[in-house]
Amino acid sequence: MEKLRYERPVIKKLETNMPNKFGLRTEYQPKTHIDGVAVKDLIKEHGSPLFVISEQTIRKTYREAKKAFTTRYPKVQFAWSYKTNYLNAVCHVFHQEGSWAEVVSGFEYEKALRNGVEGSKIIFNGPDKTIEDLKKAVEHDSLIHIDHLDELYSVIELAGNTDKKPKVAIRVNMDTGIYPMWDRFGFNYENGQAWDALNKIMRSEKLELIGLHCHIGTFMLTAQAYATAAYKLADLAIGIKKKYKHDIKYIDMGGGFASRNTLKGSYLPGSDTNPTFDDFAEAITSALINSNFEPDNLPLLILETGRALIDDAGYLLGSVISNKRSAQGKRTTIIDVGVNILFTSFWYEHKITPAQPFTHYAEDTTLYGPLCMNIDVVRESVSLPLMNKGDHFVIHSVGAYNMTQWMQFITLRPKVVMIDKDSNVHVIRENETIERITQMEKVPGHLKEFEL
Ligand SMILES: *Cc1c(COP(=O)(O)O)cnc(C)c1O
Repeated sequence: MEKLRYERPVIKKLETNMPNKFGLRTEYQPKTHIDGVAVKDLIKEHGSPLFVISEQTIRKTYREAKKAFTTRYPKVQFAWSYKTNYLNAVCHVFHQEGSWAEVVSGFEYEKALRNGVEGSKIIFNGPDKTIEDLKKAVEHDSLIHIDHLDELYSVIELAGNTDKKPKVAIRVNMDTGIYPMWDRFGFNYENGQAWDALNKIMRSEKLELIGLHCHIGTFMLTAQAYATAAYKLADLAIGIKKKYKHDIKYIDMGGGFASRNTLKGSYLPGSDTNPTFDDFAEAITSALINSNFEPDNLPLLILETGRALIDDAGYLLGSVISNKRSAQGKRTTIIDVGVNILFTSFWYEHKITPAQPFTHYAEDTTLYGPLCMNIDVVRESVSLPLMNKGDHFVIHSVGAYNMTQWMQFITLRPKVVMIDKDSNVHVIRENETIERITQMEKVPGHLKEFEL
């Protein structure tokens, strides 16, 4: 064997933060204001951390999405996905814009009613509707989207005891070319479950079949999957017409459009690569228009878009607690925002911008939250200029899911404010206090006294 040739070792600086082929992306401008209000003042007045919602951004994004669909299809209705962000003020903005409500639990259903949404404009999804929930939904003429046969039988039974004819749709799951398939909700298209449920509904004669529903996934990175889903729902609708001479009133394509956030491990920023509202609208409306519906009898198209409508409107402001060097010498910054209030940091690489002027030198930094937990890593590696103790920063596009999935853990949850179009700041959710948390607790009598 030939002797291997000696090569001189080379020492190279390891760059762990090369998010795209155009090189390192750093923030060049501080984000000092949100909708005309200084970040510094917001924190001074309302504390740190602080969630901020831009009312204008919600309205702008909603109108953009609506336009993408209404310019391509005659009958379009959005229904706000409560679980994505059910702060009442946020829901009210969507309802003012004309959105119905889409809920997935009795709690959310009640919230929508109390927000003043008419029962007939509430879509009730989800696998866990209790008999009480179903009764209420029938009384209020809501749109019940049936998830499984047990629920179907419950609704048929309920219908027998009332003079109302419950309005129902079924949720359909199907192969859209996206794997793993979301097949745990609703009835499958390919294996005949969907037809079985539809036949049972039509034969019962106790229910009014008004729609077909699907929700094929979340943060979908291809619009084509929606075209496939729309074709399959159209095929069912046309089959029902043929077999029962019955017109369904709507096709509900669910939610799941990707927002402009960047998923962890992505090569390019999400704002450059994710499909736009126009892409999704083109795929869905073309499929419906090109299917065999009678041209002057197209069903209403319902969209339950959640995250893509609210992500960009949410900001999370915070402050630096301390800077350290890791054992390997890497800069680590401890901030007062933890994963307990920023759930989406588990799958997004949120854009993070200092809120005050900074010097030009950026360095790979790990951002740790304030929790005494090893998992509390807000960012493994992000190129940031130095921020000192007490400096502020803005985390962008946090409007979806964080204000519903957040956890009261170790720290108390912060305030949420909304900035209106005239730059007025409104508190829309108070910060938690120890009184509020402990008022739900009880200490049994025999445990009250102790001596240490
Ligand atoms: C969660 C959910 C939505 C909203 O999904 P996004 O990914 O936030 O757009 C819509 N419909 C149903 C049935 C859902 O469960």
